[in-house]
Amino acid sequence: MLVYLDGAVLPLAQARISPEDRAFLFADGIYEAVLARGGRLLFWDEHERRLRAGLAALQIDLPDPAALRGVAEELLRRNQPLGGDALIYLQVSRGAAPRLHAFPSPPVPPTVYMTARAWPGHPPVLVAGGATALTVADTRWARCDVKSTSLLANVLAQQQAKEAGAHEAIFVRDGIALEGSHSNLFAVRGGEVSTYPACNYILDGITRVAVLALAAAMGIPTRLGAIPLAELYAADEVFLTGTTTEVLPVVAVDGRRIGDGLPGPITGKLREAYLLQVDERARG
Ligand code: PMP
Repeated sequence: MLVYLDGAVLPLAQARISPEDRAFLFADGIYEAVLARGGRLLFWDEHERRLRAGLAALQIDLPDPAALRGVAEELLRRNQPLGGDALIYLQVSRGAAPRLHAFPSPPVPPTVYMTARAWPGHPPVLVAGGATALTVADTRWARCDVKSTSLLANVLAQQQAKEAGAHEAIFVRDGIALEGSHSNLFAVRGGEVSTYPACNYILDGITRVAVLALAAAMGIPTRLGAIPLAELYAADEVFLTGTTTEVLPVVAVDGRRIGDGLPGPITGKLREAYLLQVDERARG
C-alpha cells in the first residue's frame, strides 16, 4: 500500500513521522475523508473548501491545498486495484516541534498525510433493515464545525454505541439531538425533513448539504432547527448522512422503535437520489 507523507509517495511500512508531531501530542490537526469511485474523487471541491476553512480556523499555513487533489488521484492510480469505491483519508497537522502548547515559533512545516483504501460500503442488510442508534451526552468542545483530529469524545461515543449493539452514537446537548459520532442527523415528521442548522455544534457535512439540496429539488419540505430528544423518538423517520454513511435509515434510537420500525419512504427517496448523484459525479 502506497501512502503520501510530506511530499513523497511511499510504502506505508516506510512512512515515518516524528513523535513530536503535534497531531500525536495535541491532536493539533484536521482531516478530511473523501470518497472516490472508479478513480474519480467525489465532492472534492466541497472537501477542499472545508479543509481550507479548518486550516484557517487552526491558523495552519499549508502552502497549496489545491495540490492535494492531484496527490489523491495519484494514490488512487498507483494503489491498484482501487477502481471501485475508495476512501481517501487526508490529515494535516501543525507539524513537529518540542512540546509547548503555543504554536512553534518560527512555524514548522505542516505534516501532510494521505491514504487511499478500498471502501466496501454498507452491508446491504444494514440498508435494507436500517441501523440503530444510541444517544450519548455531547461532551465535545464547542467547535464541532472544525473537522479536528481531536476525536476522543467521538471515539468513546462510537465505542459505547458498539458495546450497546447500536450502529451509531447520537450526541445530545441540552436535550437537543445534534449529530452522530461520524454522521449528521435528520428526522422526518409529517413529511418535513429536519436537521440542525450549521453552526459550531455540528460538522456541516458535505452529504448533509447535498441531501438538503436534493430534498428541496424534490419538493420535500426541509427545516433547519433543533430536534429535541422527545421529537427524535417520536419522528416518523430518522436517518443519518455522511461520506461513508451515505443516507442511512435509522429504525431504533435507544431501543425505541422509530415510526413503524422500518426504513421510511422519504429516507428511501433521498437515499436513491443521493446515490444517483454520486453515480453521476463518478461518471463526470
Ligand atoms: N458529523 C461528524 C461528526 C462527522 O465526523 C462526519 C463525517 N465526516 C459527518 C458529520 C458527515 O460529514 P460528511 O458528509 O462531510 O462526511
